[in-house]
Amino acid sequence: MINLSAPLEFDSIVNGEGLRTVIWTQGCLHNCDGCHNPTTHSLQPKYMMSIDEVVKQIDDSNWYHITFSGGDPMLQPQACARIARHIKKHGGTVWCYTGYTLNQLKLKTNPAMKEFLSYVDVLVDGPYIESCKTYSHFRGSSNQKILYLAK
Ligand code: SF4
Repeated sequence: MINLSAPLEFDSIVNGEGLRTVIWTQGCLHNCDGCHNPTTHSLQPKYMMSIDEVVKQIDDSNWYHITFSGGDPMLQPQACARIARHIKKHGGTVWCYTGYTLNQLKLKTNPAMKEFLSYVDVLVDGPYIESCKTYSHFRGSSNQKILYLAK
């Protein structure tokens, strides 16, 4: 199961490059001041979906360009890794938004998190910092980096 904050969003053009399907995860521990999605912070189950159902909806859409956002997807690495593995098997691309920096993630020893990260083509990392607010594409504040990990 994966705890989502909303149903899958199809045909998004603002959550990464190109047309993307967004998986909105529930749960975040960063508590950034000015966060635009405070309802996603609670770790309580909100919109539970089986991994099989997520995968089925993606297969039905026949579109394998996915963005994980939230909330923080890194809090559910096992579920995200299973979905991302499926995406990569179909030649798709994976973007992920997280409040952790890449350096912080590299220090983590959770095997599921490492596996999930290995599937991520583009990581938008770091917390949202209100004083660094930006209107540039695909990030909320200028401290966040858009990291092309696959290149
Ligand atoms: S990491 Fe993202 S979802 Fe979490 S508090 Fe910060 S801006 Fe909000």
